[in-house]
Formats: sequence, structure tokens, C-alpha cells
Amino acid sequence: MLRTQRIETMSEKVTKSEDEWRAELSPDQFRVLRQKGTERAFTGAYWNNHDEAMYVCAGCGAKLFASDTKYDSGSGWPSFTAPTSGVEVMCSRCGGHLGHVFDDGPGPGGKRFCINSASLRAEPKKETPQK
Ligand code: FE
Repeated sequence: MLRTQRIETMSEKVTKSEDEWRAELSPDQFRVLRQKGTERAFTGAYWNNHDEAMYVCAGCGAKLFASDTKYDSGSGWPSFTAPTSGVEVMCSRCGGHLGHVFDDGPGPGGKRFCINSASLRAEPKKETPQK
């Protein structure tokens, strides 16, 4: 008998209404994930967690960070040196989706920020007028 299997990919979007998110997330999760809130330093569940784990998105379960990339930054928030492949890159100012970051980049950090042209606008460098 054939069964269809749902395959999860990065492009598979999870879309829920604000009421649905509010119902399934804790108040802290809702404030951070859906309203761009920031938890107070040294108050969260994981800033001082040293267990081996895969840290996934509390909203959708996407794999985000492996515990072997977690380090003590002293900031009071969980800090990591590298995301897992395919973590979303967003504009920190407006929340716009830019693209994804992968671990196969050429630079010393080994990161490749794969960004959609549609999310960018190249503003030409202005040349200083010659006198
Ligand atoms: Fe998510």
C-alpha cells in the first residue's frame, strides 16, 4: 500500500494566525518570536545550558543551532558560533526575509549568505565631485 510522506524542506512555510500562535506559544515565546521582544539577560532557560542538544525553533521546530557551536559569550543570552545550514537571514530592522545562511562559504568564517536579489537594492556609491 502506498503512503504519501510529507517531506520537510526549508521552503515549506509555516503560516498561522496571531491567535493560533498565541494559543500554542508561552507568553515569553510569543513576545519574542512573534513580536520581536527580547528576554532579559541571564533569565532564559538556555543561556547557561551545557547539555548536548539540537536547538530548534520554538515556533516551528526548524533545526537552528547545534550545542557544539554554543559558547559562553558572557552576554546572558544563548550564543553560537554558527547556525545549522539553511538558517533564515532577516533584516534586523524591519523583519523582512532576506535569504538563508549556509556553512560552505569561502571566507574565514566559512559562511555563505545566500540572499535574494529581490530583497536588496544596490545604491550606487556616490563619487565626490572633482574640483
Ligand atoms: Fe520557526
